[in-house]
Amino acid sequence: MRILLTGGAGYVGSACLRHLVESGHSAVAYDNLIEGHPSAVGGAKLVVGDIRDTELLEKTMRDYDIEAVMHFAAATNVGESVTNPGYHYDNNVGGTLSLLNAMTSARVKKILFSSTCATYGLNPQSPMAEDAAQDPCSPYARTKLAVEWMIKDFAHIHNIGFTLLRYFNAAGASEDGQFGEYHDPETHLIPLVLENILATGAELKVFGDDYPTTDGTCIRDYVHIEDLASAHVLAMEAITDATSEVFNIGTGDGQSVLDIIKACELVSGHKVKYKVVARREGDAPELIANPDKLMTQLGWKPKYENIVDTIRTAWAWHKLKPQGYGER
Ligand code: UDP
Repeated sequence: MRILLTGGAGYVGSACLRHLVESGHSAVAYDNLIEGHPSAVGGAKLVVGDIRDTELLEKTMRDYDIEAVMHFAAATNVGESVTNPGYHYDNNVGGTLSLLNAMTSARVKKILFSSTCATYGLNPQSPMAEDAAQDPCSPYARTKLAVEWMIKDFAHIHNIGFTLLRYFNAAGASEDGQFGEYHDPETHLIPLVLENILATGAELKVFGDDYPTTDGTCIRDYVHIEDLASAHVLAMEAITDATSEVFNIGTGDGQSVLDIIKACELVSGHKVKYKVVARREGDAPELIANPDKLMTQLGWKPKYENIVDTIRTAWAWHKLKPQGYGER
């Protein structure tokens, strides 16, 4: 299949791009490079552009005779979405509207959307199946939920097949240590803990230890980036013009912030300096996937079932590339 990946130079997008190419598909990355890195796409085609540029999107779809879109491009920083909701709504909701308009004009009839477990938000169900009620608790999560609805509405009237993939927390790096997570500034837990061990010596902030969880810190389901990518390839290969699907992608297992710190200490052999500070606004207490549907319906089998193995790959990447892709 000929696939356009918006946000294809980002952490998740570029991992999916590599898996698609390995599986024999033709992939074009479309990225404004605000969060993305040109080196992350390897030798694949990269069009530098913003998803709010409908004309360039449509031209790219026509130039490469695109059959399907994988839509990763988005602002993803939960904390920032609280302080700057306009930026998130503009990028995520406005950007997707532009993308759907371009798809409609270029007659592209399939889309896979990177949604998030954060749309379940405050729903106390755990683990979470796809039919769980969505109760987002941050502007970021609300933009993703709005986009889910927007895609359904466009799909209905323009005969577009869609699959919504609600990811839990992407983690880890490629097995060879060449591709991994790098944001500037970094806000995600695992890279922050590993960066703390490697370089800064600065204290890690644990955002709240008074949540209704086992140790009081937030619990997340950390799914390896390679497993996340293999789920995308399966979902892409299953999509038709009539598909309307939703899958959770997670391991079914949860780790608290303190569990992650301990696992990073175990893998690296170093102690982590941290202090507990106030809760971060917009964080849900516990998000764990029930991935049964993905396993039974698409035959997905994660390779990484142990958080220590996942963190080992992240640690190898951070040691090999402490400055990430070194592009800025
Ligand atoms: N977290 C933390 N300190 C940090 C960064 C994150 O305690 O410096 C916590 C955060 O509150 C959340 C979990 O780690 O409960 C995972 O956060 P991350 O930003 O990695 O992913 P999110 O779940 O927000 O997508």
